[in-house]
Amino acid sequence: MTSSSVASPNFGDLALLPAVLSAVETLGYQTPSPIQMETIPALLEGRDMLGQAQTGTGKTAAFALPLLSRLELTRREPQVLVMAPTRELAQQVAVSFSRYGQNLQGLEVATLCGGQEYREQLGALRRGAQVVVGTPGRIIDHLDRGSLKLDGLSALVLDEADEMLRMGFIDDVKRVVADTPKEAQRVFFSATLPAEIERIVNRYLVDPVKVSIESRTTTGENIEQRLVRVDGGAKLEALSRILEVEPVDGAIVFVRTRAACTTLTEQLSARGLNVASLSGDLDQSLRERTIQRLKRGKVDVLIATDVAARGLDVPRITHVFNYDLPQDSEAYTHRIGRTGRAGRTGTSITFVGFREGRKVGWIEQATGQKMSEMAVPDESAIRAHRDEAFHQKVIAALTAGAEEQQALVERLIGEGYDPVELACAFARLARADEAPIGRLQAPRKERAPRDAKPGRGPRDRVPSEGMTRYRVAVGHKDGVKPGQLVGALANEGGIEGARIGRIDIRNAFSVVELPSSLPSSILAKMARARVAGRPLEISEDRGTSERAPRRRNDDGQAPIRRQSRA
Ligand code: ADP
Ligand code: MG
Repeated sequence: MTSSSVASPNFGDLALLPAVLSAVETLGYQTPSPIQMETIPALLEGRDMLGQAQTGTGKTAAFALPLLSRLELTRREPQVLVMAPTRELAQQVAVSFSRYGQNLQGLEVATLCGGQEYREQLGALRRGAQVVVGTPGRIIDHLDRGSLKLDGLSALVLDEADEMLRMGFIDDVKRVVADTPKEAQRVFFSATLPAEIERIVNRYLVDPVKVSIESRTTTGENIEQRLVRVDGGAKLEALSRILEVEPVDGAIVFVRTRAACTTLTEQLSARGLNVASLSGDLDQSLRERTIQRLKRGKVDVLIATDVAARGLDVPRITHVFNYDLPQDSEAYTHRIGRTGRAGRTGTSITFVGFREGRKVGWIEQATGQKMSEMAVPDESAIRAHRDEAFHQKVIAALTAGAEEQQALVERLIGEGYDPVELACAFARLARADEAPIGRLQAPRKERAPRDAKPGRGPRDRVPSEGMTRYRVAVGHKDGVKPGQLVGALANEGGIEGARIGRIDIRNAFSVVELPSSLPSSILAKMARARVAGRPLEISEDRGTSERAPRRRNDDGQAPIRRQSRA
């Protein structure tokens, strides 16, 4: 079994390569996190591993530090291959490897992500990258082209394995695992352990060390989870008020759709907040710039959808808002894990509509934690908060001195005005730009609850608003699942999974709704994606005579509405 040198909380005791240890010190990590304590010794021994711990617990370093310590830097071929479910995560992992390996002479890290130029990727591989990080589709692509060779591989890592399976990458994963040399170390990391992971672990890992860190002692404890009962129309005002009175440094506000993302961003910026949105709409460089602006404090509030914010690691996030309820408890855990990073504390505030109480019960059951109820600050609370803030400003101004105003004030007093009345007049002038406090009650109940499909049922052959129907060349006969299509299209096209609409899997092909606004360059990228071993060959669905538009599905099956989380 694993060596048990896990007692002392010190990186120095972990037998890491000195050059790796010094990087950890440079980065200011004081003590290894629980998952790092448990996994690093076994990974240094070359053992297979299944590691489970909640997001934000330092899983990247848990595998990167020992694997970097074992590299043979002069052997210029892929030795470590890491697969991550999304571009963003793959890039984060690649950056982490570079950081942790900053003192390793000759280390080259290649990032192989969908939707990006091949040139740079091929260059890094040709230069002899020892560490390769990527998304499944592109990794397989390079395997097929022969530009990525796994003969010299000593370790394969599956990061965020649960997310990977949820996005439908199971076949890709199996394929890569099968292509990995027998003697290579196989390492799976995951925030949760669905049964499917256990199955592939049993099948492909040899005598693995299994490490599981109880979630309740990690993420949960440093995040204060609250809920606010507020319905549709009142949510915007509730959010503004809470943002005003809470000690927020940075905040992420989760909404369900891309459209909600845009609307809320506009609404909050109209109220004078430094706000930006993070959705699959943005191309990669713009996304990265948005995240940089958040990190640097140029933006304080980020409005995001689940997919866009997955894995986001910004330490100054003090608050996560679930403006729209998450789909399930796992999504909830991922969301609130964006705060309380790296040992800090954080607050999550979940908006719960009057008919959504049951869902909260499920989330609480799954996380094993209760959310405490808070009220939306009322007008007097907001006033009190503003008075307090102004009070502090005045005192700061007093200590800073304001002699240049003295002549004016003396003149006014000389004219016979009462100093208290004068001060009140000044205060009113100084506070003239304070925003009026909005009304909290919802406007008249609007129809169309959030989950309602606009107007038509899923069987309708008419595409949803703003969407175009496309055919892809895989179907039931290829054993394709909706999640696989979403994963492949989203990664290869660099768009958010949530932007992909209904998916209708037929026998020989499938019909997918994509935003009509997608540029043809993205479609071309998507067309090259492979699912179940076949290129997608996207083409617009014109409903040919053979497959005339009908109310019923061709092969008698109800079209599958995309389930973003199975
Ligand atoms: P996970 O993959 O479990 O979600 P990450 O690997 O992304 O977590 O790490 C979360 C954050 O914690 C990152 O900002 C990382 O730099 C930081 N971190 C990791 N290990 C440590 C440590 N031992 N001490 C302090 N910070 C750490
Ligand atoms: Mg991670």
